[in-house]
Amino acid sequence: MTGSGALLRQCPLLLPQNREGTAYEGFVTAQGRDFHIRILLPMDFQLKNARIECSWHLKKILRGYQHILKQRLHSCPDLVSFMVELKTILEIALKNTQDLHIPRPPEYYSCLVRDLEILGWNKVAYVDTGLTTIKLKAEDSCGRQHLMTLKLNAKYPTEPPDCLVDFPVQFAISWMPQNSLIDIYNQFLAALESLKEFWNAVDEVDGKTWVLEPENPTRSATTRKIAIGNNVSVTIEVDPLHPSMLPECYFLGADHVVNPLRIKLNNNMHLWDPEISLLQNLKDLLEIDFPSRAVLEKSDFAKDCGICYAYRLNGTTPDQVCDDPRCGQPFHQACLYEWLQSLPSSRQSFNVIFGECPYCNKPLTLKSSVKKL
Ligand SMILES: [Zn+2]
Ligand SMILES: [Zn+2]
Repeated sequence: MTGSGALLRQCPLLLPQNREGTAYEGFVTAQGRDFHIRILLPMDFQLKNARIECSWHLKKILRGYQHILKQRLHSCPDLVSFMVELKTILEIALKNTQDLHIPRPPEYYSCLVRDLEILGWNKVAYVDTGLTTIKLKAEDSCGRQHLMTLKLNAKYPTEPPDCLVDFPVQFAISWMPQNSLIDIYNQFLAALESLKEFWNAVDEVDGKTWVLEPENPTRSATTRKIAIGNNVSVTIEVDPLHPSMLPECYFLGADHVVNPLRIKLNNNMHLWDPEISLLQNLKDLLEIDFPSRAVLEKSDFAKDCGICYAYRLNGTTPDQVCDDPRCGQPFHQACLYEWLQSLPSSRQSFNVIFGECPYCNKPLTLKSSVKKL
């Protein structure tokens, strides 16, 4: 597994606690200090449902950054990339907590107030009482509202502020000591402009189809699970830098419905036209019309699990279905796993369990949609 090697390189002190790779415990290092941490992943390895247990000390340092951490849990594709983000956020947080105790020279305040005046107070959404955290707002050319949080250290403007944004890509600013907030703001506007096509594409999907996951997509979210029909969906992964290209598509549903869609996607791939919208391209390639928000309710697609009778279970949704065309009952992966494990007639081969559907008794396999770490 290449993934676990990468994790070991990034966080040599974070070790797996079980064979399944769902529990990790150890230390994360930032600024030469080690902090105790435990990470528990759900059965389906979905990071957004991970539980993170920190020591009280680490919790105190990360106070005020929970929102960003949550955002990163939603947008990171795997544990390794999340740990990289966590370390970056921790570095910023540590720097800022140490920095808070350094008295700021009068020039800090005069420079900052002048910078804010040049920028215009109408672009300021929030300033804390100590003048160390500033939130700036901006509207992109398509009318979307965005926020940028700046954390200023005592050496401002010799050192640049840390900028935190809700982007699907890294936002690194270029800074020189003679620069001011308006330079950062202009870089923010330029970045918004460069991401415009991406947000246009996902906004159209969000507005015109039933997006099952994520429930409330952030501006950094690049995946969408779109309902196609009852218990059938496609998850797309849009490249934020190339939003007009064919995204990665993963179908979910019974074989007899999903296989024809896969074939259409393969056969029609050459029809993809970067000049028209992503949603229209998907419709053309799959030769379908996505169920419209105007006509149908979300509950028409979000069918409960046939074992626990709930839709959401620890943050997961039913993502396994019986392949029998007359049954098609959906289940949570965790519920089906437990069910099949308890049956003496089930057998397991590597990551696949063969058993019977609890509803129609037809043969059923628990497909491993599990991402390897
Ligand atoms: Zn269930
Ligand atoms: Zn069945």
